[in-house]
Amino acid sequence: MSSAKYIFVTGGVTSSLGKGIISASLGRLLQARGYRVTIQKFDPYINVDPGTLNPYEHGECYVTDDGAETDLDLGHYERFLNIATSQANNVTTGRIYYNVIKKERDGEFLGKTVQVIPHITDEIKNSFYKLGDTGDYDFVITEIGGCVGDIESLPFVEAVRQARFELGPSNFVSIHLTLIPYLKKAGELKTKPTQHSVKQLLEAGIQPDILVCRTEFPIPADIRKKLALFCNVPINAVIEAIDAETIYDVPLLMRKEKLDERVLAKLKIAHKKEPSIDQWKEFLGRVKNPTEEVNIALVGKYVELKDAYKSIAEAFIHAGAANECKVNVHWISSESVFEDNTEKLIGEMNGVLVAPGFGERGIEGKVAAVKYVRENEVPFFGICLGMQCATVEFARNVLGLEKANSTEFAPETKDPVIDMMEDQKKITIKGGTMRLGAYDCHLAKGTKAFNVYGQTNIQERHRHRFEFNNKYLEAFQEAGMVASGINPDTGLVEVMEIKDHPWFVGTQYHPELKSTVLNPHPLFVRFIKAALTHKKTKD
Ligand code: GLN
Repeated sequence: MSSAKYIFVTGGVTSSLGKGIISASLGRLLQARGYRVTIQKFDPYINVDPGTLNPYEHGECYVTDDGAETDLDLGHYERFLNIATSQANNVTTGRIYYNVIKKERDGEFLGKTVQVIPHITDEIKNSFYKLGDTGDYDFVITEIGGCVGDIESLPFVEAVRQARFELGPSNFVSIHLTLIPYLKKAGELKTKPTQHSVKQLLEAGIQPDILVCRTEFPIPADIRKKLALFCNVPINAVIEAIDAETIYDVPLLMRKEKLDERVLAKLKIAHKKEPSIDQWKEFLGRVKNPTEEVNIALVGKYVELKDAYKSIAEAFIHAGAANECKVNVHWISSESVFEDNTEKLIGEMNGVLVAPGFGERGIEGKVAAVKYVRENEVPFFGICLGMQCATVEFARNVLGLEKANSTEFAPETKDPVIDMMEDQKKITIKGGTMRLGAYDCHLAKGTKAFNVYGQTNIQERHRHRFEFNNKYLEAFQEAGMVASGINPDTGLVEVMEIKDHPWFVGTQYHPELKSTVLNPHPLFVRFIKAALTHKKTKD
């Protein structure tokens, strides 16, 4: 077994308490002490991965370098820790059963009855240990999705119980994230739900080592004492997680509450130096004290649910900080945009981002928004479907190909400027079959994209089935929209930009997936800079 230490984070009382942010914050603090850390998420649903889920169900689908379609919490892990995650960092019940059933069909259990215990729990534990076994990490933080007590998370919780024995006390920490509700009428913070939740954990055979308590108000000493007494934890293992202004405050709040120290103490690791978090503090200072502000429209189909565009929203925060600028994102439903109301909807904006997406709904609104920003020289950033809409608009209104479209929306169109990739045409299975993950892109010198990255060869992440149709490339380039980024192996267009426009860049890939606190994505940083310039020239 590996030398990694394992930290398991479970949740109680209710979902949406922010286990992902707590895990990422703890990871960040341990990393700031010089440890090598990774974080993985175990989701209790039956889908093999979230790739087949509508964003309304589960928010954004986050794509890793190796092409895994994963839970959006992995985005937080990457943004906070500045590390790359992979398929191994996100496992669902569906994947566990899928693997076990495959083994059964392959005859691996010949003669045996395949059961939840030990076969499913063994498979879960193998996945728990997989990253730790590489020897690349000192700490593996494992977030268990859902709530303790949910029927569907039972096998995961049972596997944590077994892991506790296998790993031994010096390699295992159990953190339980819970809620301390405030009853207004009584004027009191209540501990009972937490007591019940810990009881449920105890019934499952797990004594939490640390309680992280989400609360709207500071938790006074007497309440901490009560929680410690009823939940069998030392009082200094009751950690207050008070509502924070931004998610980026949480590592500092956890530092103040000494969460990282509690973890090290439980593992009997003598810590010599304090974590170095100056860079983080500096970032937060820039987030909180902007000297400028810009208004950016995000035109998308799923705007009612902000989580659907999580990585884009976070990339704006990173890019804003880099420009010492507050980015006010105005979420505009693409279905509400028409050519005759673009001035009203986006006329006051300093930049427009047209979002990724699937399906026909809202497409014409996105095209109308592109037309407005192209004609009015408003900075534009198109991502994936956003880039595809930009080429459709250009084809229709500049090249005069009135019926130009993507075959995703008009399969019979006379001018398919966006068409299904050749190797996608024979695929009928939906799960995990798009063009996924990191691919090389070659940037042409002298273009906006090249100047932003400052290098020729880049790698970015993808999630799409359709592509720019190279039959039209020459016509586009002659008319001023150029392919500034090309995949060197396949010739697929990766970046389109308009030469004669202050800032008009569309990417077939998803740059937002690689923006982190320490490395804000250069395309977002530059887009915000363009928006600032636009604002100044307008004033
Ligand atoms: N629907 C488009 C495609 O499949 C764009 C996908 C996206 O925006 N991620 O190519």
